[in-house]
Amino acid sequence: MGMTGEGFPAITTRRDAVVAWGQKNSLWPMPFGTACCAIEFMGVAASVFDISRFGAELVRFSPRQADLLLVAGTVTFKQAPILRQIYEQMCEPKWVISMGVCASAGGFYNNYCTVQGIDQVVPVDVYISGCPPRPEAILQAVLKLQDKIDRPQAVPPAQFKVKEPQFDY
Ligand code: SF4
Repeated sequence: MGMTGEGFPAITTRRDAVVAWGQKNSLWPMPFGTACCAIEFMGVAASVFDISRFGAELVRFSPRQADLLLVAGTVTFKQAPILRQIYEQMCEPKWVISMGVCASAGGFYNNYCTVQGIDQVVPVDVYISGCPPRPEAILQAVLKLQDKIDRPQAVPPAQFKVKEPQFDY
């Protein structure tokens, strides 16, 4: 910030920095809640933890109005194409948080019907460990994602676990 000749403050910045600032502070999450982890997400949206302090309280249930896909719970192979379709219907830029061990790695459902990690279906930006993760862990994931949006060069982009995602379940 500097002073102009008439004594008014002048702010200089970069356009992409302003855009990133707006994006990271106005995330619109779409919860893909399939199991108990979704209850913890409800907790973080309520008044005690109050995710609105971080600008991410505007939960949407239409992918076209959301830019943060929050997968909370077990994902079966039958649900995988639906999850993928929801992800594809979201407008760019978009991000994904994988909440809990079930979404991130299948959890203790190591069986024929459970996807062993949603990064086989959608690229994941931030993982949350735990079963179930505490609401504070969700807040920390949001902060990590905000940091990633702020410094895209410093953080690797979201990746699939497999080279080519499989959707022919
Ligand atoms: S990680 Fe635990 S709490 Fe979350 S969906 Fe799986 S079993 Fe439920």
